[in-house]
Amino acid sequence: HGKQYADIHDGIRNTLTMLAHKVKHGNVQIDEQFDTTLPPVNAMIGELNQVWTNLIDNALDAMDANGKGVLQISTGRANECVKVTITDNGPGIPEDVKTRIFDPFFTTKGVGKGTGLGLDVVTRIVKQHKGAIKVNSEPGKTSFIVEFPFNG
Ligand code: ADP
Ligand code: MG
Repeated sequence: HGKQYADIHDGIRNTLTMLAHKVKHGNVQIDEQFDTTLPPVNAMIGELNQVWTNLIDNALDAMDANGKGVLQISTGRANECVKVTITDNGPGIPEDVKTRIFDPFFTTKGVGKGTGLGLDVVTRIVKQHKGAIKVNSEPGKTSFIVEFPFNG
């Protein structure tokens, strides 16, 4: 349960492997823009993998319908922080929905499809790592941006 040093990209790649069935099903193309010069992070790796899983899962859900999905994952650094941006080309998040997406149990997915807990869990884990999460969304483009200190 403690912190470990790890390459941020290993966790993201493992997550993509775990979600490969869903990537294929949605016919989604993956565009990785990884900054390979990033130092390892000192973090709760299992929890971080849950963050990537929940964000990528939502991105894949958003692109389900159009069949021309592109999932872009980029990493970089902002001062003492690592920055991970997950972007999809799904429909986007309407303003009135955007204010509620981080609330526990808020979901726009059907009964039995969404728990509404994914982003609540993400928020809690990011805070545990002294980090922050932001969302930018417009029709056809949604980005979730996670930042936390290398020594989170
Ligand atoms: P769930 O996935 O179970 O619905 P989440 O907490 O993961 O719960 O997400 C809450 C809601 O946020 C989703 O139901 C959806 O309306 C919205 N959402 C999250 N990510 C995206 C995205 N990439 N594109 C569009 N809507 C999104
Ligand atoms: Mg979700």
